[in-house]
Amino acid sequence: MVARTTGQPGASTAGDPYVPSHGNGGYHVESYELDLDYRVNSNRLSGKATITAVANQALSRLTFDLTGLRVTKVSVNGRRAARYTHRAGKLHVTPPAAIMDGAEFVVDVQYAGNPKPEDSPWGELGWEELTEGVIVASQPSGAATWFPCNDHPGDKAHYRITVTTDSPYQVVANGRLVSRRVKASRTTWVFDQAAPMATYLATVQIGRYDVLDLAASPVPTRAVLPAAQLRDFRTDFGRQQEMMKLFCRQFGPYPFEGYTVVVTDDDLEIPLEAQGISIFGSNHVDGRRTSERLVAHELAHQWFGNSLTPSTWQHIWLNEGFACYAEWLWSEAAGGPTADQQVSKAYTRMRGLSADLMLSDPGPELMFDDRLYKRGAMTLHALRKHLGDDAFFDLLRTWTRTHRHGSVTTDDFISLAATFSPDETALQELFAAWLDNYELPRRR
Ligand SMILES: [Zn+2]
Repeated sequence: MVARTTGQPGASTAGDPYVPSHGNGGYHVESYELDLDYRVNSNRLSGKATITAVANQALSRLTFDLTGLRVTKVSVNGRRAARYTHRAGKLHVTPPAAIMDGAEFVVDVQYAGNPKPEDSPWGELGWEELTEGVIVASQPSGAATWFPCNDHPGDKAHYRITVTTDSPYQVVANGRLVSRRVKASRTTWVFDQAAPMATYLATVQIGRYDVLDLAASPVPTRAVLPAAQLRDFRTDFGRQQEMMKLFCRQFGPYPFEGYTVVVTDDDLEIPLEAQGISIFGSNHVDGRRTSERLVAHELAHQWFGNSLTPSTWQHIWLNEGFACYAEWLWSEAAGGPTADQQVSKAYTRMRGLSADLMLSDPGPELMFDDRLYKRGAMTLHALRKHLGDDAFFDLLRTWTRTHRHGSVTTDDFISLAATFSPDETALQELFAAWLDNYELPRRR
């Protein structure tokens, strides 16, 4: 497939070499209003998406990502689109009148079908039926399985997600629950996500869940889970509130209105993050705290990944290296192995593995490789030793404050770190050795 560049009107790629077929050029989305109707038994989704966007070039054609669902109607600024075509995951729309550079415009898309996850090099992504309910896990490219979007992490927008479904089910989506209306056997849930959010972090979770309020401060925290998991959950997540306090101290204020942990009734290979939400499988709850490091990892993504989102996927270590280091910080604070001991262990293991991963540009095949997580965390530990604890945590808090709810690159982090280091040359050498090399640097 020949990717068109962002320079062309209505380009059908955002030009991200890691996920070249997703994302589109020519506009920035300001908000998605998704009005969804879902039948659990038949896995039938029908929806209307209202996308408000601003053109950054004159547009005679617009493109959105949408896979596996059928589009029934498209309008632009309240008028029926002159033409639209939908194939190979791309919805091309010809507006009734060309859109001027800088103009705000509104696109309404009506669509329906039986959503299913999309095959990707990173496994199945997107909207997925559970035994009884739904999980949406989209990183990096699953968002288009349930709504038309500009599926690129750099295009963050406000969301209002309305879900109408069968009443016995609990629905969780991003942001604040604005209203819940029961009408006969169906319930309509409305969520508002005010802080800008990347498409891959948008989610809907549906299941027969109980709701457990865990804390009112410093962050309203709750869990949504099958009743059968309640007892084990209290053990496994019993120290999450301590983690929250630790991370608020070390990383700065929690960046969203609340935090919800969802435990699905099904097993999941790995837990995953969404904005303001983390999703775990039943297999991560066993009453023995086996997955506690993952509880820390997912919580840390609220700062690193969700509030500060990589501008392009190349910068994924800013998510995973930081979340992995948060595991070690938690371990250290909780009286387990120190970060230094964790580094030694990881370092020894990594020496036995092939040196073909460059942290600053790992390539799409290795973007979720365990070595990226560990080497990213080791980089932060080397930086901590270089700066000293006070300056290091000050840097982390300044990082999350300066780029709160924004998009970030590795260079942004390096530039900020430079303002905390007394020795610019040594710092540049440190980053070059850890980020831009395949070989593992010598440990100091
Ligand atoms: Zn992660």
